[in-house]
Amino acid sequence: MLKIQNIRKEYITGELKQIALDDVSLDLRDNEFVAILGPSGSGKTTLLNVIGGLDRYDSGDLIINGVSTKQYKDRDWDSYRNHTIGFVFQSYNLIPHQTVLSNVELALTISGISRAERKRRAKEALEKVGLGDQLHKKPNQMSGGQMQRVAIARALVNDPDIVLADEPTGALDTETSVQIMDLLKDVAKDRLVVMVTHNPELADTYATRIVKLKDGKIVDDSMPCTEEEIQKGEAVHRNLGHASMSFFTALLLSFNNLRTKKGRTFLTALAGSIGNIGIALIMSLSNGAQTYIDNIEQETLSEYPLTINATNMDFTALMLGAEQAREEKVEEGYAREWQTLSAMFSKVSNNDLASLKAFFEEDAEEMDQYARAIEYSYNITPQIYRLIGKDGYRQVNPDQALSGSLGQNYSAMSTMSMMSMDSFSILPSDPKLYEGQYEVLRGHWPQEEHECVLVLSSGNRVTDMTLYALGLKDADELDKMIEAFYRNENYEGEDMLTTWKLDDFLDIRLKLLDPSDRYTYDEKYKVYVDHNDNKAYMRDVLERSEDIVVVGVVRAKDDDDGVAMLQPELYCHAGLPTYIMHKAAESEVVQRQLADPETDVFTGVRFGDVVENTIDMSEMFAIDEEGIANAFQFDADSFDLSNLDLSEFDLSGLDLSGLDLSGLDLSGMDGMDLSGLDL
Ligand code: ADP
Ligand code: MG
Repeated sequence: MLKIQNIRKEYITGELKQIALDDVSLDLRDNEFVAILGPSGSGKTTLLNVIGGLDRYDSGDLIINGVSTKQYKDRDWDSYRNHTIGFVFQSYNLIPHQTVLSNVELALTISGISRAERKRRAKEALEKVGLGDQLHKKPNQMSGGQMQRVAIARALVNDPDIVLADEPTGALDTETSVQIMDLLKDVAKDRLVVMVTHNPELADTYATRIVKLKDGKIVDDSMPCTEEEIQKGEAVHRNLGHASMSFFTALLLSFNNLRTKKGRTFLTALAGSIGNIGIALIMSLSNGAQTYIDNIEQETLSEYPLTINATNMDFTALMLGAEQAREEKVEEGYAREWQTLSAMFSKVSNNDLASLKAFFEEDAEEMDQYARAIEYSYNITPQIYRLIGKDGYRQVNPDQALSGSLGQNYSAMSTMSMMSMDSFSILPSDPKLYEGQYEVLRGHWPQEEHECVLVLSSGNRVTDMTLYALGLKDADELDKMIEAFYRNENYEGEDMLTTWKLDDFLDIRLKLLDPSDRYTYDEKYKVYVDHNDNKAYMRDVLERSEDIVVVGVVRAKDDDDGVAMLQPELYCHAGLPTYIMHKAAESEVVQRQLADPETDVFTGVRFGDVVENTIDMSEMFAIDEEGIANAFQFDADSFDLSNLDLSEFDLSGLDLSGLDLSGLDLSGMDGMDLSGLDL
């Protein structure tokens, strides 16, 4: 028995408060066919969604088999939706490019049952709805009535106790509607079916009970439960059975977090890594996910756009493959290969984005109908530095603590934990995608390439990452923290939360490095030399580099359900990547490389040639004396190696005959005493 007790549900959109369900109480028998009638906007869909766990009630209670759902966690709702409920929608919600059989089968994937069993059950459900001979058709080759049958088969495939149908015949002609109603009546023989309709005749003919709604209230019930029935119903406590957690389920569970802000960072990253097409597909697998999507579509589309990546990976195929490997029996005493790597690489594909962009631009007006905005992002990370004192500097984007010193380890860590090591992001080029979601507290949005803006969370929070980047917090602390992490130690730093005046952020200036400035041409060796490790050189370059200036502070408007487009961090002007790109294209080193595409300008060697015995000294020895001195923590002037015992040091095997040291400038090491050195 399903008890709906004094349920209220309001929707608040801006100033407007809409009471969708106004103190609704209704007891539903385990086995009946209930039609819910009422004018448009009376709360029918809301009621159905609350019953199905697609929508949460504000107050009241939904009692399922004697158990209150007040304490339900996302996971409980998920299990309830997957095992107890089947949904049928007016608009079918089938995946167009999948066969009928897959559409039904996919609804089962989430319950962690074997593949063969899935197929068998899907076939059986399709036979039940009279489509046993159409398994391999695609939805777009079928009539509306047939598509609704597929949707009913999909709802039935988990053998749910309750089937919920929202205007299932709303899009069908009378004759087809009658066939669908016959089918639903049959479905209702051994379960509860709740159907929303605005057709009183169909309700009269087929339903066993009619409940009328008006303005969110029940105004009529043709067959309310008796006191006796209610008492009997309450005595039954049945277990819902928990979903066995397959990876798929785990993934689906995480979609519940879409509504909450806590889930967003993870999801953004996930979306970025598997591509949103994959996500949309996975979501549509979940029973009833469509309504869910509709509800939050508006808010989420801006943050979860359809993303097309240069490369993408088909995760679903991968997962299905893994499952297959688990199922297939291998003869006792043998072990068979399980293709994990090759499966992964074969599922990776490349997209021709240049052609796609040309296609979009060719018919821009046409595209406008389908897309709110089209944004292009480039694989360009602005190299941003902060000057420190008279001669220091720190790379803050990507932060050197997170990218530089940790190198490989970190990049592995970042993919695993899906966190970004950039302090700066790039604004979308279309302001209407984000401006409405924020209020400007200080200054203004960036208006030209060198301006950036600080985004605060709706609770006026600024991340420590941002504070480090801007130099408001001491970045040494960050370094120590990360070192401690790698030594497996706990970092015992100050735990105090700092607070800042908004005005303090304005006009903070950082430096944008033009990467080509790192290189100078060596006339003698005819190659470019990288000075990245030469602190004095870099400081000098950075001083002459262009500024990046914080020109504004904005805050996400307070809106709990809303999903804001920008994360709380620093955002650069949308035009910055192309600015950097064009500037790089004009730079001398790039020009020279383009002029001679065969030869690597950094080594002077032809691309692809094997370098044999020719050690290019100029590349190796762009010596930064100060850097070396610092690295070893002694002073270059009193560079004394006399204490160094290198007697064990055997260099006899080293062939230095090809070594040309003529370009080596050791003049800065005049004071060096090598007398104690025994080679
Ligand atoms: P019905 O299905 O009977 O047409 P609904 O349950 O869809 O009615 O809607 C009931 C009321 O709640 C309507 O006034 C509708 O505008 C409002 N409503 C429904 N869903 C939302 C939503 N996601 N956001 C804001 N208002 C909503
Ligand atoms: Mg409706």
